[in-house]
Amino acid sequence: MAECPIRKPSMVPYVASWSGEVAGFEDELVVQLGRGEPRLGYRNECPEDRAGSGDVLWGRIEEARGVGRPQFDSMHPGRQYIAMYAMKCQVCGGPASKNKDGWLFLDWRKPQDPPTWPERSLTAMPPLCDAHVRLSMEECPHLRSTEVLVLRVWTPRLWGVSGTPYTLTADGWRTHEHDSLLPFGDPNLRGLLASRLYRELRNVTVVGGGLAD
Ligand SMILES: [Zn+2]
Repeated sequence: MAECPIRKPSMVPYVASWSGEVAGFEDELVVQLGRGEPRLGYRNECPEDRAGSGDVLWGRIEEARGVGRPQFDSMHPGRQYIAMYAMKCQVCGGPASKNKDGWLFLDWRKPQDPPTWPERSLTAMPPLCDAHVRLSMEECPHLRSTEVLVLRVWTPRLWGVSGTPYTLTADGWRTHEHDSLLPFGDPNLRGLLASRLYRELRNVTVVGGGLAD
């Protein structure tokens, strides 16, 4: 799925990951046998490893913002979750903008968008503050070549997650796919290592847009 935290030499977005932030290792994953079906878990799991509705297992990665080089094409799973859940600006990490028409988001057409787009669009890109919505449109190369809409969203509903899907085999958990997008409540969430929180944009008002150039 296309995603693109903005890039600017003088400012690294809050949600961008850094090369010094090392992800967890696959051998930490274990099979948990609880009340229901087996589910994906960590060997030494703690409560912070699960998030969202349904206690989805979240991908582990170090929190070391500013260490190494910024990776503009890759969002940090932990900071993406915080920004999207708590409605913080994806660029500065401060409060996202909200007015009488709702929260400030950018959106562009993606393959899975419904015919009602931008209404009911699903997005993993957290909202923005007033200052950084302009900066994003000016400086993100992806946004500069795409038709981008500036939106006010009254009901950005928590929808689901994406991540790496695992299947339980005789040899333990195995994965063959890169990414899977699942709504909260989906039984396959028990085998997902999540890395993105998604909201569905409802009650959308288009307040600007077009090609940024
Ligand atoms: Zn901001």
